Amino acid sequence: MKILFVAGDPKPERWTVPIKQQLPSAEIFVWDPDGPAVDADYAIVWQPPAALFEREKHLKAVFNLGAGIDGLLNVANLPEHLTVVRLEDAGMAVQMAEYVLHQLLEASREMETYREQQRTGVWKIHRPIKRSEWPVGVMGLGHIGTRVARTLADLDYQVSGWARTPRRLEGVSTYAGPEQLCDFLPSTRVLVNTLPLTDETRDIINYELLSQLQPGAVLINVGRGEHLVEDDLLRALDEGILHRASLDVFRKEPLPEAHPFWQRQEITITPHISARTLRDATIEQITGKIRDHAAGQAISGVVDINRGY
Ligand code: NDP
Repeated sequence: MKILFVAGDPKPERWTVPIKQQLPSAEIFVWDPDGPAVDADYAIVWQPPAALFEREKHLKAVFNLGAGIDGLLNVANLPEHLTVVRLEDAGMAVQMAEYVLHQLLEASREMETYREQQRTGVWKIHRPIKRSEWPVGVMGLGHIGTRVARTLADLDYQVSGWARTPRRLEGVSTYAGPEQLCDFLPSTRVLVNTLPLTDETRDIINYELLSQLQPGAVLINVGRGEHLVEDDLLRALDEGILHRASLDVFRKEPLPEAHPFWQRQEITITPHISARTLRDATIEQITGKIRDHAAGQAISGVVDINRGY
């Protein structure tokens, strides 16, 4: 079995050595832009060049080193019937739950206010949190959104969730499809986006959507930058529709120096770190699936290319 690693990592051996340990009988190759075809059976990729699919004509499956495959689907020449497999959780969901909880608590527990008080030596106690005032709505109830929603529901926040198809989740009110978005939004004050980027979800967080949230709304975007219409976010902040936003993903990354978001007190910016790819868990998941696929067994996490996720 031949496996080609195509991820532009300056130290590919960090991946290829443990992959070889997991699959000792496999031959592992690192992508060489000027090299010949290796006739790979499988490719493990992150944002691969289009040349990959021109050169390697017998790929049985491609494993993406991330949960979101929007970047991969944009690659020219992606064969229509190729089996594309995304990461499923692999340690990312718990990180995302932590990140979202942290951003929620910043608002619901008034942490900014207490930090400000500390700066000026003020000991002042504000009224305790009323959870009923902080209903959370999670867009996307997949591997990541489900973990986020469950974590917050376990802490007694009122949580609702919205997906494309009906989902049941204990302790979480669920909504599905565009027709129920207008019920989901008014039940939400803290909107958390964990959607994949598809033709249907691009630009979904716009002025009209933000206007339907409860007063004092908070946005936490950990999905993709292209879900958010950036000018609409600024307008919603200016008009007081939105109280604050925590953004981990941006239309252009790194966020350009001159971008207006940097100047806004109400926006918390993090550099796409809400859920990092964990090498050990990722390699274990992918090599396990390669083993199963090679043995003719069904594997989970296969992307529906037409659906976009
Ligand atoms: P999943 O595929 O497991 O879940 C996607 C969820 O989104 C599903 O519940 C799906 O609905 C829902 N969904 C998809 N399209 C629509 C739509 N048009 N309307 C309503 N709901 C929709 O993905 P993951 O949870 O694993 O990951 C989600 C995304 O999180 C990734 O695609 C990526 O963009 C982002 N991400 C960001 C990271 C970061 O560091 N910032 C790290 C990892 C992921 P249904 O259940 O009906 O299929």
